[in-house]
Amino acid sequence: MNTSEKTRRFIAQAEQFGAHNYRPLEVVLTRGEGAFVWDVDGRRYFDFLSAYSAVGQGHCHPRIVAALTDQAKRLTLSSRAFHNDKMGPFLERVAKLSGFEQVLPMNTGAEAVETAIKAMRRWGYRVKGVPDGQAEILVAAGNFHGRTTTLVGFSDEDEYSSGFGPPTPGFALVPFDDAAAVEAALGPNTVGVLLEPIQGEAGVRIPRGGYLKRVRELCTQQDVLLCLDEVQTGLGRTGRMFAWEHEGARPDLLVLGKALSGGLYPVSALCADRVVMDVFTPGSHGSTFGGNPLAAAVGLAALDVLVDERLVDRSAELGAHALERLMDELEADDIADIRGRGLMLAVEFRKRHARDVARALAEKGVLAKDTRTTTLRMMPPLIISRADLDEALRLVISTINAT
Ligand code: PMP
Repeated sequence: MNTSEKTRRFIAQAEQFGAHNYRPLEVVLTRGEGAFVWDVDGRRYFDFLSAYSAVGQGHCHPRIVAALTDQAKRLTLSSRAFHNDKMGPFLERVAKLSGFEQVLPMNTGAEAVETAIKAMRRWGYRVKGVPDGQAEILVAAGNFHGRTTTLVGFSDEDEYSSGFGPPTPGFALVPFDDAAAVEAALGPNTVGVLLEPIQGEAGVRIPRGGYLKRVRELCTQQDVLLCLDEVQTGLGRTGRMFAWEHEGARPDLLVLGKALSGGLYPVSALCADRVVMDVFTPGSHGSTFGGNPLAAAVGLAALDVLVDERLVDRSAELGAHALERLMDELEADDIADIRGRGLMLAVEFRKRHARDVARALAEKGVLAKDTRTTTLRMMPPLIISRADLDEALRLVISTINAT
């Protein structure tokens, strides 16, 4: 990247005083609005990552910002030692939108997945009757559910897990997109199957049609809970409110995060019916910030924006359009695959390093992200206009075709 002195200074400072647990592109952002972000030198970029889908509603959406600032002046944190007047309305909203009876609010995606694991285990012992300490949860190869020690412990990606063992027991890996493997791995002590309906971090891996539906059937037949981690795919990203809807594979537990706040604040949640959620009793789970009034106010506004601005339909329409353009117009020899669902899109190269492509795109004013070595992931905010999307796609297509 052609970086300024100012940019270099910010980067050097972060490098010196921050842990090196990320390797960001050499862009220092200072402002965002809608589908755009600006760097400290005043350069404008199309945001084609949306903070891994969290900024679905667009940067600094005025309605969500207003909810945040209004609430920040009233009450930000009550802790769960007391009730607050924002959490109830938020929980009702999430429950009704997701179609589940109850909601447990947390902060980050990883925490909400951990919450789901605790729920599945306790359900296994107290409802299914699995012997204490024997519960097993099936997870998929290529999974990404967050960075806690338990979650990286069952990741098969060395970069995430290496050096952080020993792994938490009670998880078994099965290949992704292989219902027969799930069937073969289910045993009397299996309490849950935890999956991403589309694997985001693994490179937007979309399973074949029928996979989720079959896993759903197997779970129902064998009295096993199906837990879908829709932290990245949920809330419109794939062109449906939830990615499970593409196959009618309603899970028993649904994990949400990221876009639940429109990217203004960490807000996550576990959604489930009472038969599962009732396993939580006072003292068995919690979080100082979970369900705080600021998060709840932001979450309510973020969901209002999603519904009122018909962002799910936009994602479906614009995503289909973008996929068609990428398929029609990308002509580089080393393209292995072009795939997407809604505005969750990826181009996979045979040899090219996607990071080099991401760097070239940043030069042209589009911020996208490589996942794994050869896959470029593109997830613009769902509010992006068709004209802006077309302009960004023109830049993406010409950059890939030129290099
Ligand atoms: N689950 C999935 C499917 C994700 O994509 C992510 C984040 N990329 C997480 C969980 C973890 O979310 P967080 O970073 O908020 O902990």
